[in-house]
Amino acid sequence: MTLLLSHYYCRHMADRYSTNSSALIVARSPGRVNLIGDHTDYMGGMVLPMAIDRYTTLTAHQFDTSLHLLSDNQPEPLDARLPIVDPSSTTPAWGRYVTGVAHQMQVARGFWGSVSTTLPLGGGLSSSAALELSTALMLHSVNDLPIPTALELAQLCRRAEHVATGVPCGIMDQLTCAAGVEGHALLIDCYSMLVSPIQIPHDVHVYVQFVAHRQLASSAYAERVAQCNRAEVEIGPLRLAEVGSVRNISDELLRRRALHVVGENERVRRATMALALQDMTTFGQLMNESHFSLRDNFEVSTSQMDAAVETARAIPGVFGARMTGGGFGGCIVIVADATANLQHLQGVMHVKPVGGAEIL
Ligand code: ADP
Ligand code: MG
Repeated sequence: MTLLLSHYYCRHMADRYSTNSSALIVARSPGRVNLIGDHTDYMGGMVLPMAIDRYTTLTAHQFDTSLHLLSDNQPEPLDARLPIVDPSSTTPAWGRYVTGVAHQMQVARGFWGSVSTTLPLGGGLSSSAALELSTALMLHSVNDLPIPTALELAQLCRRAEHVATGVPCGIMDQLTCAAGVEGHALLIDCYSMLVSPIQIPHDVHVYVQFVAHRQLASSAYAERVAQCNRAEVEIGPLRLAEVGSVRNISDELLRRRALHVVGENERVRRATMALALQDMTTFGQLMNESHFSLRDNFEVSTSQMDAAVETARAIPGVFGARMTGGGFGGCIVIVADATANLQHLQGVMHVKPVGGAEIL
């Protein structure tokens, strides 16, 4: 009943709105896949992701004092009045990513429109960051605000996700989707926020295989962040630590968590060098090692993801494969040469590195 009413309301408002002459604006953000460096961003570490040619597209008109948004992927529309006071209580829940951004920006004018995406939702390819960035660009546009830098946009959207969902995510997703560079991966130092584009050789192909929707991700994610913070109390910033000092951590569990973060930062540095030198054998080995560490030290993989990674690695022409993103389901990433035949893998997508979020 609520659903029917809200659809009726939207249609009614759409009719009313169709008389408004303000311009139609299209804001679009890519998703991202992380090649290597997971669970390092929130500790100020190193990551090597790329923005991908799968997009979230928000099409809207300016609409005074409220936000009205239909999503192709959700049954219930978002209908919220500005200013947003508490985005964490927005219903339907998907609208929190949108009201979270409006709350951060404290804008007077909203929009009326719809959103669609070619990204899987909850698949580890940052559909949430893509929705936040499209929203942020749209709100800047309808409020006649100058578009800020990619880093400013990403920081705004990261804060929005924290407030709206309570998940203490790092900057990687938002910054990659905002700052993507065509044909390049991005080496991001999540402490200095320096972004260095690294060219991906033309004959290197990146694939993503969707394995399963994520389960229990937000609580387990927050628990991992807390464990890393406890490890830092013992040995100082993990981004500066060496593997030797990790051995001084007395608690066995915290030691393994810290070992992952410290080792992963080092693997990202070495993988970046390998990519720049087009040494894809070394790059693939580092991807494989990253997966083992996420599985054994950080315990964020699943048996399905482990099996998918094993299968992919056995295919001739594959350099390496690993789970990607926060874990507990989602996608794996596979890097291969042009001869690798991955067509038979269920849910596999060939993805290309693209530029960041923009108003079209
Ligand atoms: P990921 O970012 O890896 O896709 P998250 O759990 O962080 O996974 O975010 C997924 C959530 O973001 C969805 O469950 C939904 O609430 C919201 N979302 C993302 N894209 C859209 C969209 N196009 N329409 C509606 N909700 C969306
Ligand atoms: Mg997300």
